[in-house]
Amino acid sequence: MTSNPKPIDMSAYWLPYTPNRYFHQHPKVMKSAKGAYYFDDHGRKLFDGLSGLWCSPLGHADPRIGAAIAKQYDTMDYCPAFQMASEATFTLASRIVKLAPAGLDKVFFTNSGSEAVDTALKIAIGYHRVQGNASRIRMIGRERAYHGVGIGGISVGGIVANRKMFASMMMPGVDHLPHTLNLSQMAFSKGQPTWGAHLADELERIVALHDANTIAAVILEPVQGSTGVLVPPLGYLQKIREICTKHGILLIFDEVITGFGRLSANFGADRFGVTPDMIVFAKAITNGVIPMGGVLVRGDIYDSIMGGGGQEQLIEFFHGYTYSGHPIPVAAAHAVLDIFESDDLVNRAKALEPILENALHALKGKSGLLDIRNIGLSGAVELEPVPGKPGLRAMKVLEACIERGVLVRISNDTIAVGPPFISTPAEVENLISALGDAVDDAM
Ligand code: PLP
Repeated sequence: MTSNPKPIDMSAYWLPYTPNRYFHQHPKVMKSAKGAYYFDDHGRKLFDGLSGLWCSPLGHADPRIGAAIAKQYDTMDYCPAFQMASEATFTLASRIVKLAPAGLDKVFFTNSGSEAVDTALKIAIGYHRVQGNASRIRMIGRERAYHGVGIGGISVGGIVANRKMFASMMMPGVDHLPHTLNLSQMAFSKGQPTWGAHLADELERIVALHDANTIAAVILEPVQGSTGVLVPPLGYLQKIREICTKHGILLIFDEVITGFGRLSANFGADRFGVTPDMIVFAKAITNGVIPMGGVLVRGDIYDSIMGGGGQEQLIEFFHGYTYSGHPIPVAAAHAVLDIFESDDLVNRAKALEPILENALHALKGKSGLLDIRNIGLSGAVELEPVPGKPGLRAMKVLEACIERGVLVRISNDTIAVGPPFISTPAEVENLISALGDAVDDAM
């Protein structure tokens, strides 16, 4: 049973990453969330097909996270982040290091993915500088990449809409690899496309153009999430790793979406068997309950920066946030990692992966579908746009999905799904079947 919502004054709130004018005509107001469902102000129960914004793999309102937060609030609600830390912040860093690929054994905490990206870029530049390579300041990103909204993140990012209004703010000296999506070669691939590893050779061209001694780091999402789940071609990330190593360039994986189980492994680095020099994480570390991000860093990078710090009473790295390692998100993150262990969540995601894959690829043949992509517990369908009206088709699908009781994420004319790891197989199948019907509705 749905009901007419109570009118609310929406005039003051400027919604982020939202077409605000459209929203005011078609508002979406959520009232509560429990398990794998949201409940909106029409009284509708909506399956959370994207785990919040990829950040809530455990579903919503798990009492174990709430209890940990409440307990921490009563014990110590804040601890200055500079010159001191809570004990649990140290133990959280150690736990994250244990989950990470070998060699990544330091953690720098931030409050968001965007801050973590900019932190990683600063660490890369700082590292080369203390190594005596102060000319290595150039960053290489990739077309269609999303690395958040900090100045560093939009500079290395490759989604044009995020960049064009702010051109005057861009970091100098950034270049971009081509993205790897090529529908004529890889449309409807299951998992990793077999075509496209050669696109990594573009890095050699960029290195030759700029000279390796000017390049600090390459930053990549192992799977490009926000632009519509672009899965790396087989062998591509391995080649990128080899080229970076050959030229002394640091490789940063932005695993804000792919970290903590989304690819049926702790990190994308594990899934693809490629170890970067830094991993940026956020989102699932606290299940989205409270903000936190961070950077996992190779131990010797940290050691170099410490070595370059001068006298011992002096700060080695002039960077950090008032809320770095804040005790409340730290408590939430400990609870989340406890639940990952006790409820075997990475394996639950792994068990759901083929169910999502089969359900998604069963949509092949529907009119208006240009591509279906998937890996881990993430997937996307790409739609033929309405001529001259980019994004309109996907918006119609989103509305039709909501009518059918599921939430999905749209970007341009791509629809992404990433259900919670606590979903049942039937819920994953229902999500995709509702999506398929919504695509029909929108044609
Ligand atoms: N990096 C990636 C790969 C992301 O997907 C996101 C957010 O979706 C970010 C960075 C930015 O994270 P935040 O929104 O927490 O700043």
